[in-house]
Amino acid sequence: MKNLRHFEVIIVGGSYAGLSAAMALGRSLRKVLIIDSGKACNRQTPHSHNFITQDGVAPAEISEKAKAQVLQYDTVEFLSDWVQGVMKVDQSFEIKTKNDLTFTADKVLFTTGVTDVMPEIPGFSECWGISVLHCPYCHGYEVKHENIGILANGEVAFELCQLIQHWTNQLSLFTNGPAILTAEQKAFIAQLNIEIIEKEIAELKHSAAYLEGVAFKDGTQCDLTAIFARVETDQHCHIPAQLGCELNEQGYLEVDFFQKTSVNGIFAAGDNTTPLRTVSIAVAAGTKAGVSINKELIGEQLSKRAN
Ligand SMILES: Cc1cc2nc3c(=O)[nH]c(=O)nc-3n(C[C@H](O)[C@H](O)[C@H](O)COP(=O)(O)OP(=O)(O)OC[C@H]3O[C@@H](n4cnc5c(N)ncnc54)[C@H](O)[C@@H]3O)c2cc1C
Repeated sequence: MKNLRHFEVIIVGGSYAGLSAAMALGRSLRKVLIIDSGKACNRQTPHSHNFITQDGVAPAEISEKAKAQVLQYDTVEFLSDWVQGVMKVDQSFEIKTKNDLTFTADKVLFTTGVTDVMPEIPGFSECWGISVLHCPYCHGYEVKHENIGILANGEVAFELCQLIQHWTNQLSLFTNGPAILTAEQKAFIAQLNIEIIEKEIAELKHSAAYLEGVAFKDGTQCDLTAIFARVETDQHCHIPAQLGCELNEQGYLEVDFFQKTSVNGIFAAGDNTTPLRTVSIAVAAGTKAGVSINKELIGEQLSKRAN
């Protein structure tokens, strides 16, 4: 018989959503282990915006402060490691890590986020989060009224043109090949005074990740200070899907109002459940998950006592 350390809750992913859940659970006297591999999706961005009390603060500074506050609750522990397997064993879960540690838990919360799939354009991944931007609410104000590009095509491009023109009137759309837009969409974009550039991109020119311009395969070039782009995302951790948790059509984990997945005992919160990607929303979802898990544990403990 293995002698494994048991926790009431194991949180896989100790960034904003995970730490927020741990705060609610620690304050609910729950024995919690957070396991985190330290790869938050915004780690490359120098300043995080649009989260009150933390506007303009470095992403790692926000999570370090949160971690220090959470670890003041003596029932909460933090482990830097990668969870590589979770198995349902009777009424609980067995969790294995890359460093060959095994734990058990009554409930598992996945706050594992998503990973961004970088297009194969030289310079793109270096500038990601610095001058190649995912969200105008997070970074639009800092480049307002500047000479900005949108790198997208099709419906996403049409949507982004309507959104980003609010922050600047010097805007170009780069479709990186023939534009996949209807004649009506092209006319609408032209009315917004946005030039559509269909030339294939060779490279994003930058100095220390700050964009200077776009170089095209035909040898021409244009100047720019920032680009908005929406890249493909993938679940950072595929274990919930392997355990049978349902994903929606967009690839996000399905959760109910209480952050419960379709598998009993497994919860999820943060970027892995929603395209509404901001720190404040991840933090709010983490709190909701923590509260829901505690409530479910109280219910189970009271019904055991009654039987
Ligand atoms: C470039 C960029 C800039 C952004 N800027 C802003 C901004 O200015 N303002 C704002 O509000 N939002 C911003 N966002 C969005 C914000 O970063 C996310 O909404 C937020 O990080 C989501 O938090 P999360 O806890 O759900 O996931 P994440 O922060 O991505 O954290 C997931 C954590 O889980 C860990 N993990 C995953 N799988 C495992 C596993 N199997 N075992 C152990 N650990 C695991 C990861 O290492 C990571 O630490 C930005 C996003 C990007 C990509």
